[in-house]
Amino acid sequence: QFDTRAIQHLDSAHYLHPFTDFKDLRGRGARVIVRGEGIYIWDSEGNKILDAMSGLWCVNAGYGRTRIADAVYRQMQTLPFYNSFFNTTNVPAVQLATRLSQLAPPGFERVFFTGSGSEANDTNLRIVRRYWDLMGYTGRHVVISRHNAYHGSTVAAASLGGMAGMHAQGGLPIPGIEHIVQPNWYESGQGLSEEEFGLQAAQALETKIREIGADKVAAFIAEPIQGAGGVIIPPSTYWPEIQRICRKYDILLIADEVISGFGRLGAWFGSTALGIEPDLITFAKGVTSGYVPMGGVLVGQRVGEVLVEQGGEFAHGFTYSGHPVACAAALENLAIMEEEKLPAQVANDTGPYLKERFAQLQDHPLVGYANSFGFVAGLNLVQAKGRTPHDNRSFAPARQVGMTCRAHMFNNGVVMRAVGDRMIVAPPLIMTKADIDEMLARIRQSLDDTLAELQK
Ligand code: PLP
Repeated sequence: QFDTRAIQHLDSAHYLHPFTDFKDLRGRGARVIVRGEGIYIWDSEGNKILDAMSGLWCVNAGYGRTRIADAVYRQMQTLPFYNSFFNTTNVPAVQLATRLSQLAPPGFERVFFTGSGSEANDTNLRIVRRYWDLMGYTGRHVVISRHNAYHGSTVAAASLGGMAGMHAQGGLPIPGIEHIVQPNWYESGQGLSEEEFGLQAAQALETKIREIGADKVAAFIAEPIQGAGGVIIPPSTYWPEIQRICRKYDILLIADEVISGFGRLGAWFGSTALGIEPDLITFAKGVTSGYVPMGGVLVGQRVGEVLVEQGGEFAHGFTYSGHPVACAAALENLAIMEEEKLPAQVANDTGPYLKERFAQLQDHPLVGYANSFGFVAGLNLVQAKGRTPHDNRSFAPARQVGMTCRAHMFNNGVVMRAVGDRMIVAPPLIMTKADIDEMLARIRQSLDDTLAELQK
């Protein structure tokens, strides 16, 4: 047992939280989360909260899976750690690499393990540059990404990302990384159909490649659906056009599937769900359902062959690459997801239901635009609705209506994330239709409460 106030006091005195204004926690204190089971978490005051964000988009198989805990315990007793540097390996890492190559799209035979998604994207940067060096094109080092992308928080990953707030601190991005527009029809597609806008947004890649010179561009990196940028679901024309441009200029394509991997979009990998054919795939989060940190890069045939046959030693790796305990957790988590057919359930049953129910929120006076794909969804809070989504009137950003709404969500026992005034969810994949109904009821009540507060 512990005293919540005492924990909050120690928390604000000693613990520097990620992505948090430290001063905000003074006096008020952070919410202390103490337990999770299924789709729910509990705080130290006994409040039961429906976690519609799966933690940070990661608890795909839900909380309280004792099978994963048991697998971790067994592995810790047998071999808690050994590295895979210098010609040693361990059994769970080999089994997981094999399993991932079976679940991945065709041609992904090899995997490089890391401890997180950020490290995996750093690894990608090194792999694509090394690939072109080995191919004899030593000047081909530029990687193109997108505004508002999130690829992690290491210096390289934050540079690959396109978050203005991150770039504003510490002189990012590092040289050799360029950014193009995000395919956000709601924000930028005024006067265009979604399909027209999708083509136009993708063609920004071609313009950028021409500007830099194709002989200098190593790769394009993107999330199949932008997550932290606000669940930006691209128009159907976007990815085919990106793919065409990458092929035309022989640019490697990196799909950052840290969020979209492991069932979230209704397939083991989001690339499959969206018809993308990448050369490299970043993964993390859902691979262990977040129970133990782990990430990695799935390396497709084109790059893999060159790295293995011509590369010699790849001078790169992490102490925790292929950590046996993380791999054991991942294997058990993937076994659960497979037995319960979670990706197919999202594709055929609960995903379509979420889409239908979520779109109904558009009848609420505060909701200007709501959409979803698989088990990610988002809605825009607006001051007034117009005839088309582009005629909606937004709130002044300084009012922070999203944060107000998020607080009401917590009061009504549901976690939703605010990205400006776009409210987003990424629920655990185990959600049933009844759970979706409960989530939507709590969201609707919170929207009513937000509206009532704004009208005060
Ligand atoms: N890539 C994407 C698309 C992400 O959403 C994230 C984290 O949210 C990362 C990379 C970074 O992963 P990690 O926090 O495990 O370093």
